[in-house]
Amino acid sequence: MKRAQLSSIVLLICLTAVPSWGTMAKPTSMDGWLHIVWGDSDPAAPAAQQHRKILLTDDAGHTTELTMSNELLRGGVFRWNGRRVRVFAAAEVAASQPVPVAALRLMADPRAPGEELGGVSGSQPWISLLCKFADVADEPKDLAFFEGMFANQPGGLDHYWREVSYETIDIVGSTAIDWVILPGIHTSYVPTPGSGTSADLTQLFDDCTAVVDLFVDFSNGGTPFAGINLMFNDVLDCCAWGGGRFATLDGISKTWRTTWEPPWAYANEGVIAHEMGHGFGLPHANNWDGDGNPYDSPWDVMSAATSYAVDDTTYGRLGKHVNAYHKDQLGWFAAERRYEPAADSDTTIQLDHTALAESSNYQLIRIPIAKSDRWYTVEARFRSGDYDASLPGDCVIIHQVDPNRSEPAWAYDADDPPANFSDNEGTMWRVGELFSDGAAQINLRVDAQTDTGFVVTIITGDAGNLFEDGFENGDTSTWSDAIGGAL
Ligand SMILES: [Zn+2]
Repeated sequence: MKRAQLSSIVLLICLTAVPSWGTMAKPTSMDGWLHIVWGDSDPAAPAAQQHRKILLTDDAGHTTELTMSNELLRGGVFRWNGRRVRVFAAAEVAASQPVPVAALRLMADPRAPGEELGGVSGSQPWISLLCKFADVADEPKDLAFFEGMFANQPGGLDHYWREVSYETIDIVGSTAIDWVILPGIHTSYVPTPGSGTSADLTQLFDDCTAVVDLFVDFSNGGTPFAGINLMFNDVLDCCAWGGGRFATLDGISKTWRTTWEPPWAYANEGVIAHEMGHGFGLPHANNWDGDGNPYDSPWDVMSAATSYAVDDTTYGRLGKHVNAYHKDQLGWFAAERRYEPAADSDTTIQLDHTALAESSNYQLIRIPIAKSDRWYTVEARFRSGDYDASLPGDCVIIHQVDPNRSEPAWAYDADDPPANFSDNEGTMWRVGELFSDGAAQINLRVDAQTDTGFVVTIITGDAGNLFEDGFENGDTSTWSDAIGGAL
């Protein structure tokens, strides 16, 4: 039953019996497309905050905001985001309020966007729509700026996504449409500009796409646009937003990767790359300090997007690479670039840095943690390429991944306490340093640096008695403390 119908029924009953909303509550279900939309405040703001909205769009195009515990998203955002679901409401609420969810079920997916679950490959053309609020005349950047942002040359987003994905994706065919005027004034879409989460993302999407629909063919002559950047000429609420939206445009019903961008967002292309990353389904990356701030790892555009980033005179701070877990989740490592050690194994391999386009070595080590849902990813990072050149250092980075966290990948930090911002030595594993998770019987040593990465030795399980450093007794459980203090 649709919520609008329920509301009518509730209204009728209220007229006669006047019960409270609480006693009215009856579980009800809704089917639709679930989308997670992430909101990011200006990196220049004193206290960066993340926000997350979970939205359900039904087949009629009505969008409802949901609230639910992380427990209901078991299996992680890649399992649920963009999927067709049935939600069971915990209570009936007023139409303008988010619906609390008691249960969630994956449904058959008859109109999925034609991609493997979680993976992103092939051409992904985006269209940037430049939308002015009816009462704001300013045009912060011109059309040429937004067209040039998509270029396939260093600093352009087509070039960027090709490098980050090893040419698994491109955004060739992306374009921009010159400024148009929305039907509503600024505060009709954003009641509290610059703060809170008040921006009406649904109305902004619906109105901005409707205004340009007279001269934009979203079906794009048979190769529909993959994503839509909504570029606005004034601030939204707290944030720039990125995620997805299910809608029917020019006869195409599907999930459109979508971002909502205020002027401070397109002042730095790294922010646009970050929001497009949300559009591709990526959550935030995090570091090891356990605070609620996911913008404190400089190793991923999906964390501290503009820190340790390459500067461009036109497009500001550019995007960086995403961490190896994120690339792996999107299907961007060919099988021959992934290494997963067997149990009770001792292997030395060459690990090339992840910005290297043409690598004949491994670029990702994935180490499962036995008897858990978690694993480690190991990657090499060099200050190299057009986007990673300003990173804090050349080193090996180790993430612990737990898909059930809202930010699954946390960059491991051996310092005690972990650094608030992960440009520290404890996060950077260098030649001679040892990583050990004694309980999981996982040990890793950085043996040497090469022109393109590092030589590393991975020892799992009972094979851990071979290092020539005094630990030959195999009791590797003592290593963690030694490592933690040694850096
Ligand atoms: Zn974000």
